[in-house]
Amino acid sequence: MRVKNIKDADIKLLEYKDYYLEKSNEYKGKWKELFKNNNPIHLEIGMGKGKFLKESAKLNPNINYIGIEKSSTILLKAVRMISTSKLKNIYLLNIDASNLLDYFASSEISHIYLNFSDPWPKDRHAKRRLTAPSFLRKYQDIIVNSGVIEIKTDNENLFNYSLETLEEAKFLIKEQSSNFDSKKRNIVETEYEQKFKESNKTIYYIKVVKMTTKKRMKLYEDLANLHGPSGDEGQVRDYLLKVYRAEADEILRDGLGSVFGMKKGKKDEPVIMIAGHMDEVGGMVTRLQENGFVKFINIGGVVPNVWVSQNVVIQTAKGKVKGVVGSVPPHMGAAGEITVDSLFIDVGAESKKDLEKYGIKPGDFLTFENDYYVTKNKNRIVSKAWDNRFGTGMALEVFRELKNIEHPNTVICGATVQEEVGLRGAKTSSQMVKPDLFIAIDVSPVGDATPGPGDSFGKLNGGFLIRFYDPGNIMNPKMLEYVEGLAKKHKIDYQFFLSKGGTDAAIAQYAGSGCFSITIGLPGRYIHSNTSMIDVRDVEAVKAIVLEIIKDFSKERLLELKQWKYISLAKIKQK
Ligand code: SAH
Repeated sequence: MRVKNIKDADIKLLEYKDYYLEKSNEYKGKWKELFKNNNPIHLEIGMGKGKFLKESAKLNPNINYIGIEKSSTILLKAVRMISTSKLKNIYLLNIDASNLLDYFASSEISHIYLNFSDPWPKDRHAKRRLTAPSFLRKYQDIIVNSGVIEIKTDNENLFNYSLETLEEAKFLIKEQSSNFDSKKRNIVETEYEQKFKESNKTIYYIKVVKMTTKKRMKLYEDLANLHGPSGDEGQVRDYLLKVYRAEADEILRDGLGSVFGMKKGKKDEPVIMIAGHMDEVGGMVTRLQENGFVKFINIGGVVPNVWVSQNVVIQTAKGKVKGVVGSVPPHMGAAGEITVDSLFIDVGAESKKDLEKYGIKPGDFLTFENDYYVTKNKNRIVSKAWDNRFGTGMALEVFRELKNIEHPNTVICGATVQEEVGLRGAKTSSQMVKPDLFIAIDVSPVGDATPGPGDSFGKLNGGFLIRFYDPGNIMNPKMLEYVEGLAKKHKIDYQFFLSKGGTDAAIAQYAGSGCFSITIGLPGRYIHSNTSMIDVRDVEAVKAIVLEIIKDFSKERLLELKQWKYISLAKIKQK
């Protein structure tokens, strides 16, 4: 919008305290208090001179409206016009949309309008478009599940671009039109819209909704509820084989049970291998006792206390058998130190014969029983097996996204087996593939919930984890600079993470004569137990960085990172 700057507009704005809010993040999370009611909040980004907002607020007294506008001159015009009304359901902010998260908390907004945003026609300015991925991630965060975004534009390129980015960001496209008439739909016309209509321009329109967390994460729900302790990953493998077979150029399998799908890239370009691990921690039946109790051992690292009084499921040849790990009730005195040796599973059997009848045998595997659920918060989800059905699902999600991105690389996505008992499937499968870059996607325990040592790292909703050190794998410093540079460039949230454990990256680094091998981590709480919690916003960050790495990677980049041919990495950030 071209207007002559009004002198001291930002100071003049202060005269309109009923409608104009000074730049301050004190409203974040408190908008409902400010409006003094519980009505839904609609936000127009780039509101211009405020016609749409004022008329909408008048028509819909039960909706609260917030307008943001980066130009103080334009906002002053808007606030002058709105102040002649007596509306109580409207506030204006003089901010840039890139700072939305400083002003709005998660799920505070029900509806966003982008009316005739600047189209930024040049490709190199695409990042400034208000439907660029970094903006969409912010909208995802501040709008509620099933929240709506409506976009109007006269620019066909922006329309097409937005359809792509919205779809990639997992918004559900409800409506798209290249011949839109607000009047026919009883929607308020904006100022620009009127102008464009008068000059017979086409108006493009898109309406999307934010998918519910449940729907967005359905793949993970399906995967997480499967049974798959290390060594018994058949259910997960069958699931993966079905989808990779349908979508991959080629399937790769190692002799231990790991499964990968390949999308071929250009000749002589790098091979990127992206792996979750399909196994989870659990247990194995060792002995059936005469009294009908079942003895077991750990599969993977589970602290003995975690088992006590948990429901478990034993997978037998005859099907599932549920039981509970016995504990000593307080009436019978303190239990003393707990070892897995001292524990047993009570499936309700009265004798060894009963157990045999149920099909239980030494060597049967068991897992915790705890079905996946989305918490009240909507962004956080609980499951027994985030570690690591998350990585398994994310590798698959990334694989499915490959058809939508440009890059020259051969990409191999899938899942290893037996990570929890010593990175076994990663050893065999990385030797089979010999990638140039191995990316382990795994869940790491962050320190925001456990009072433990002060040296713990990370939190939920802080972004993906750059795992710069663990005892089995030191992140190559050039690689670290590279990943951090890409995250900064694409405005993806990240956190540095140090771990005392290990991931598949520790063993994959030995593939061939050695390769780049990194872990992109998802923050998780309480892992290696019957339950764990993650945050979907971190899931989006993991996905975003992995895709940016694939998009940016090439033969040249590989050489650069290896420093076999030196080009300053500062260049990536400028590109
Ligand atoms: N929505 C109005 C005005 C459209 S013009 C209408 O339909 O009539 C686009 C407006 O968006 C301009 O006033 C411009 O200053 C504002 N704008 C562009 N980028 C912005 C950003 N990043 N943050 C806030 N406002 C922005």
